[in-house]
Amino acid sequence: MGNVVAIVGRPNVGKSTLFNRLTESRDAIVDSVAGVTRDRHYGKAEWLNVEFGLIDTGGYTHNTDDIFESEIRKQVNLAIEEANIILFLVDVNSGITDFDEAIANLLRKSKKKVFVVANKVDTYDRIADIHEFYKFGLGEVYPISSSNGSQTGDLLDALIAAFPEKTPEEEIDIPKLAVVGRPNVGKSSLINVLTGKENNIVTPISGTTRDSINTRYQAFGFDFMLVDTAGIRKRSKITEDLEFYSVVRSMRSIQESDVCLLLLDASLGIEKQDLHIYSEIIKAKKGIVILVNKWDLIEKESKTMEQFKKSILERIAPFTDVPIIFTSTITKQRVHKALETAMEVYQARIQKIPTSKLNDVMLEEIERYPPPAIKGKYIRIKYCMQLPTHTPAFAFYCNLPQYVKDPYKRFLENKIRDHFNFHGVPISIFMRKK
Ligand code: GDP
Ligand code: GDP
Repeated sequence: MGNVVAIVGRPNVGKSTLFNRLTESRDAIVDSVAGVTRDRHYGKAEWLNVEFGLIDTGGYTHNTDDIFESEIRKQVNLAIEEANIILFLVDVNSGITDFDEAIANLLRKSKKKVFVVANKVDTYDRIADIHEFYKFGLGEVYPISSSNGSQTGDLLDALIAAFPEKTPEEEIDIPKLAVVGRPNVGKSSLINVLTGKENNIVTPISGTTRDSINTRYQAFGFDFMLVDTAGIRKRSKITEDLEFYSVVRSMRSIQESDVCLLLLDASLGIEKQDLHIYSEIIKAKKGIVILVNKWDLIEKESKTMEQFKKSILERIAPFTDVPIIFTSTITKQRVHKALETAMEVYQARIQKIPTSKLNDVMLEEIERYPPPAIKGKYIRIKYCMQLPTHTPAFAFYCNLPQYVKDPYKRFLENKIRDHFNFHGVPISIFMRKK
């Protein structure tokens, strides 16, 4: 997890066509990042159950004369900084152009893994024409057609095979925490507090092929891993893309984590960008703790905290079973509490409720408030169980699963939350035929 692939190439080689194909192949979540100066996209792709982030570095206008060397440099640097693998797209119809050469030069200097992809190979008789691209000296050339999809499967097979293996340390069963949030909320400050000199770094794990560095810490009496701290702390050289960078990094950290600490800036309240990251965490079914940071800056009266909490819960609805903690990385107020809560969320997320206990409470709730009959048909839920999945999921077995609508599923979820502690943990409810 946490792998990111970037597509680079000059205009018109088919970058956005390929991006759309790879992100559409599953029911796509294409996140066009709002507020980005240029037309750049981040999306999620999946192949053989392996998920990865995909960046279309997009960029400049489609008028070749408008392109400057510096624009290409920016695009390629973005890819080099943010992705583990780069797809260098070229066009079999035009062969190698000066712009392709310029990109190849930059890529050769970076130590990134590059796949040269010859696009627009729509028919097999064009394959012979790809040999020219071996001249780049960037290794294997993959012929594909982004528009009709041919041979994209072979490319994807090779791509996921090239993702770095997890190191044994990373497989260790201790909580992986990600510190996420938009720029300036205090992520690096929090990480510094968590990893400062007074704390004991147990094992810094820096994979040679990985760019993200997950490090194991013991601090404030807890044992945990911080995800991708290097990425978060690294300052982008390209300031205009700060927002985009921070979103890409957040996505990546979210994917790799068990529990996310989502930082908000107390002096700004909760804004659209925060909600965007919030919904990504929920979609990824990760544990979450909201930290309202910079709490030291707020003039407080007796009800300030309650009011703050209320306004956040209103914005994050419908999923509101989330711990909210008011922190300051300057005074270190409640940093311990934040970690402690993250650990509780982790435990809640891995718990397995015994089937008998679950049925005892849930069948009684269901009897008290059964699913409404639809078209004169009665829905009978016989029993339920927690599924042996990675993230908490519950199956309810009944005669007519297709008739159970979302409001009733929400009722079931809420009752599970009433009886068991899933604070900060998204859960899934499935109706199954019995
Ligand atoms: P970008 O500027 O690199 O993002 O390129 P686009 O994805 O916008 O594609 C540029 C043009 O090439 C469009 O007209 C596409 O329809 C076309 N195109 C993209 N992929 C293929 C392909 O595999 N075969 C053919 N024949 N045309 C393609
Ligand atoms: P990042 O971009 O999310 O990593 O944010 P930084 O950690 O770099 O913090 C951005 C700015 O906010 C810096 O000037 C920090 O000193 C300041 N800051 C961070 N946390 C706090 C806090 O709890 N209270 C106050 N008053 N300032 C903070």
